[in-house]
Amino acid sequence: MSLKVVFLGTSSAIPVSHRNFPAIAVIRKDEVILVDCGEGAQRQMAVAKIGFCRKMKILITHLHGDHVGGLPGLLQTMSMLKRKRRLQVYGPKGIVGFIKSFLKYLKVELGYELEINEVREGLVVKEKEYEIYAKRTIHSMKGYSFLIKELPRPGRFNVERAKELGVPKGPLWHMLQEGKKVIVNGKVVEPEMVLGPPRPGRMIGFSGDTVAYKSLSSFFKNVDLLVFESTYSEKDVERARENMHSTSVDAAKIASEANAKMLALVHLSARYNDPTTIRLEALKHHNNVIVPEDYDVIEVPYPDSNEGFRVYSLKEFLKA
Ligand SMILES: [Zn+2]
Repeated sequence: MSLKVVFLGTSSAIPVSHRNFPAIAVIRKDEVILVDCGEGAQRQMAVAKIGFCRKMKILITHLHGDHVGGLPGLLQTMSMLKRKRRLQVYGPKGIVGFIKSFLKYLKVELGYELEINEVREGLVVKEKEYEIYAKRTIHSMKGYSFLIKELPRPGRFNVERAKELGVPKGPLWHMLQEGKKVIVNGKVVEPEMVLGPPRPGRMIGFSGDTVAYKSLSSFFKNVDLLVFESTYSEKDVERARENMHSTSVDAAKIASEANAKMLALVHLSARYNDPTTIRLEALKHHNNVIVPEDYDVIEVPYPDSNEGFRVYSLKEFLKA
């Protein structure tokens, strides 16, 4: 089952022609998890054909304008497109007031249920197949980093063993694969008898806007993909400290300490036309760094698979 990350917007507070405000869509099965919703996110979503009526959660890292400016329009568009499914939004304290006030003053009545959650550190979402955790950032306003963590999958199904035990191919195999015991010729076959050890799921971390402080590396421990802000190049480290942001090197050091398999640098300041320097700086501290352009897509493989990360363009993404 694929897990894709679509970088809808990779700029920081000021957009440039080729980078829009922060918004990243994680696509898992039939669900979209949108991380931040900068101004224009809905148009970026339309271009990437993400869809407005599917199962969706929105995680807001903090309430700075560049991360939430797209919410009013997106929520309204969903209603105009007759969305019926519930929409869940998670963000720091203040997110409820912010959303309720623009809905009130824009006189928008949503045609779907909107669930808004003000999160705290720790577990914020618990689904059957994955969980989402939050950790406080250090920035000029309260905010959170997020970690999306898939739960372990059942172990590999041993076909030979199933045959030996006399389990006929078909629905009984499926039941065993789902972890249910079956009865064959009056004998109980437990799933453990035909399944290998549980296999790890995938993890993706999102820094939000933050100073790269030490314990973020334990929060992001062993992530497959770490999406970290690099508002600044290491050359402008003083400016980064002043504005409570991270540099390329800060991000790469966290990624390296966290043992992240891949690091994607986002939230680039408008002052950097060419991201090459930022990437090269980070590569001195982590061996797998990408600076995605808007609409780039990263497909995250399972940790136990032989496949590597796939990075591709929107064109290929739309074809798939
Ligand atoms: Zn920002």
